[in-house]
Amino acid sequence: MTLEKRSEVSCDRCDAVCCRLTVVLMPGDNVPRHLVDRLPDGPEVMRKDEDGWCAAVDHSKMNCSIYEQRPSVCRKFSMGSAYCRSERERYRDRHLIDIVLA
Ligand code: SF4
Repeated sequence: MTLEKRSEVSCDRCDAVCCRLTVVLMPGDNVPRHLVDRLPDGPEVMRKDEDGWCAAVDHSKMNCSIYEQRPSVCRKFSMGSAYCRSERERYRDRHLIDIVLA
């Protein structure tokens, strides 16, 4: 498989890989309780499904099903940031897919 590199990072050309990260909930976050887990060491986090995505991901559209209610950590995650690009790269390398890195 050829891994083509394009010039622009966009959520439209991504598998929502940031929604595979652990999302720790902060005071003031108000997400549906059935989407929340508690880690053994204490903090509440967004629950993940068996495939590793946040349980709030709408898999038919690969976007956030609770966008207006999404946690503060998700609101701060910046498209095209170094963190975004490194997560895309890790995902691309693991799954051998074409994904925009820079
Ligand atoms: S709450 Fe929404 S934006 Fe945040 S990780 Fe889950 S699906 Fe992604």
